[in-house]
Amino acid sequence: MSAGCIFCRIIKGEIPSKNIFEDDDVLVFHDIHPIAPVHFLIVPKLHIESLASAKHSDQVLLGKMLLLAPKLATELGLEGFRTMINTGREGGQDVFHIHIHVFGGGANLPKT
Ligand code: 5GP
Ligand code: ZN
Repeated sequence: MSAGCIFCRIIKGEIPSKNIFEDDDVLVFHDIHPIAPVHFLIVPKLHIESLASAKHSDQVLLGKMLLLAPKLATELGLEGFRTMINTGREGGQDVFHIHIHVFGGGANLPKT
């Protein structure tokens, strides 16, 4: 838990979210500003600032998060999806609590 972190507050239930999946380690919820018909965030309950500050001891947790992407995408009816982890200000990260974006559901995702 990190004071003032918006995702820690969502995990604590202080801010409402549209949850897709939850267990002891992870919360998955829909992005509040989706950039595709389906756009959700896979967020660990442990406050890790970014991929750049993840440690060797986070390896299993990060693997678990990654493997949730295809499982949940399939459950939500996506035939394909894109994953994205923004890291650092220059990497487009706005919320400094690591998360995997998963989005899809549209035929015209930009080819970047
Ligand atoms: P970043 O730019 O850090 O990779 O992505 C942060 C994402 O969190 C953005 O896509 C933004 O829309 C989403 N987000 C920010 N605040 C909230 C919130 O309070 N609720 C939800 N569901 N998503 C949020
Ligand atoms: Zn946090």
